[in-house]
Amino acid sequence: MAIAYLNGEWMAPADARVSVFDRGFMFGDGIYEVMAVYDGKVFTLEEHLVRLKRSLGAIRLESPHTDDQWRSIINEAVQRSEETPAYLYLQVTRGVESPRSHAYPGPGKPTVLITVMHAPVLARTEIVPYKMVTKQDFRWGRGDIKVTSLIANGLLKNEALDEGFDDALLFRDGELTEATASNVFMVQDGTVVTPPKSNFILHGITRDHVLALLAEAGVPCEERAISEDELLAADEIWITSTGHEVWPVGQVNDAVIGNGSAGVVWQVVDSLFQASKK
Ligand code: PMP
Repeated sequence: MAIAYLNGEWMAPADARVSVFDRGFMFGDGIYEVMAVYDGKVFTLEEHLVRLKRSLGAIRLESPHTDDQWRSIINEAVQRSEETPAYLYLQVTRGVESPRSHAYPGPGKPTVLITVMHAPVLARTEIVPYKMVTKQDFRWGRGDIKVTSLIANGLLKNEALDEGFDDALLFRDGELTEATASNVFMVQDGTVVTPPKSNFILHGITRDHVLALLAEAGVPCEERAISEDELLAADEIWITSTGHEVWPVGQVNDAVIGNGSAGVVWQVVDSLFQASKK
């Protein structure tokens, strides 16, 4: 059964309540992580903890827990929920403050929310390649911090949906950054290419995991800038995220990518990824 942890208390997610003076509610002043639970275990937990602490540091919020405390709360949440496969959502905000002010309150007391909810598993045969549209990346300059304020990502995603696409591929100064909630890879003449880490993209845990799997398998990979022309001419395109794992893209704007279905390198990377979950 889905479960929530809120500031030390356990409850059903629908019963969790935070104050209207919480800075997460007032300012979107918080960070989050989404983790996958496979076979009752949190996948790449250590990598998520590293990014959690990086995001907290970047927004000048002291971690309310040590790594051991995080591990134990997270594992208890998974055990209590008995959900697998599942998604674990973890959010830390700067906590309750009144009156409302942009200036940070003193050390304060961050709000910590964790939920564990059931995740559907898709049979590999049900995976339908996405149709993506290219858009200007007008988000702020710190896409590397996993902040809860996702207004720009939501606007871009919904523009894409309204135009009949599944999602948007974002470009800044002519270079690919990422999609609205995932990182992007292309295959060009047998080499896998993805944009380098920067302050403009989220340093995806799935992105790093996929790069490590490909390196281990001896598949050539490059982290470098990708132009729109290059992307449209790619043999394959995939997006990666905790929720999508590695997902093929069959169309960008009105251009078909490869033959429009999941490519041969995607088949390889998806098999490696599925095997790595065990
Ligand atoms: N970029 C953005 C903007 C995201 O929101 C996400 C997570 N949904 C990702 C990339 C992928 O990150 P991860 O692989 O860690 O889920």
